[in-house]
Amino acid sequence: MKANPISPTIPLDQDGVHHGFLKLPYSRDDSAWGSVMIPITVIQNGAGKTALLTGANHGDEYEGPVALQELAATTRAEDVTGRLIIVPYFNYPAFRASARTSPIDRGNLNRAFPGRPDGTVTEKIADYFQRKLLPMADVAVDFHSGGKTLDFVPFAAAHILEDKGLQEACYAAMQAFNAPYSVQLLEIDSEGMYDTAVEDMGTVLVTTELGGGGMSTARSNAIAKKGLRNVLIHFGILQGEMQIDPSVTLDMPDGDCFVFSEHDGLFEIMVDLGDHVEKDDVVARVWSPDRTGQAPLEYRARRGGVLISRHFPGMIKSGDCAAVIGVVED
Ligand SMILES: [Zn+2]
Repeated sequence: MKANPISPTIPLDQDGVHHGFLKLPYSRDDSAWGSVMIPITVIQNGAGKTALLTGANHGDEYEGPVALQELAATTRAEDVTGRLIIVPYFNYPAFRASARTSPIDRGNLNRAFPGRPDGTVTEKIADYFQRKLLPMADVAVDFHSGGKTLDFVPFAAAHILEDKGLQEACYAAMQAFNAPYSVQLLEIDSEGMYDTAVEDMGTVLVTTELGGGGMSTARSNAIAKKGLRNVLIHFGILQGEMQIDPSVTLDMPDGDCFVFSEHDGLFEIMVDLGDHVEKDDVVARVWSPDRTGQAPLEYRARRGGVLISRHFPGMIKSGDCAAVIGVVED
């Protein structure tokens, strides 16, 4: 296979704190010999585990970038045992556009794995992580939120995996992250996901959904920072005491957790995030966008549980995810 064109401007395997870029050549109208410059910090101190830490896999999700910028700016080499590889803006072009996908190629980085060394900009980023950075990692933390179109109760997640040993390790890392909710996540579209690439390599993954709406809050950023620190202590990379608070465990057993709209219109959510719902409760209504006097269309929960995600904007389209129900475990 071809070599990936990305080159780091800093060493990835030397002790100390190094701030630099992953430099991805990108020739274009406004810069003939230009590059996409993806910021990266590597902090290494002797032997130990390596954590690969990423935010803005989707460019409009902000808790990860905030927590990782702070970690990169404040961590000293002597604080670390092993290595931190910190990339706050994983899909950097998308992040700079405040968008989920890249403005260069419309690439959704979390559907682009394993990527291609000779593909689009997004595919080249995926390939570099797939073949260069992921093989260096013992644990990957990839921060997500709902972006501009979804909002979530704050949770860390682990996937149901065929490799039960890896599933256990991922579950323990999720518990160390200790978000207010912990979810065994059922993916609706796992092909091409970074998560799948990490897990297929046998590497522990912690992923999150910490909020949404295309912004972060003081509370959601605090959850990201605490969880990140806890996970790094769990793996022996940082020292100190983990901060452990109560966390509600949720399960997503099947597709009945999801409620999708089949209409365009004015979106009315009927329950708020974290609220309990019974099976057949109306969780959302959609009003006609262009006439009065019509009854709203009702969308009902197909199982009981807690509202863990909702469509964020005030208008909804056919095919949009309107609501997600999680099942509370005892
Ligand atoms: Zn995301």
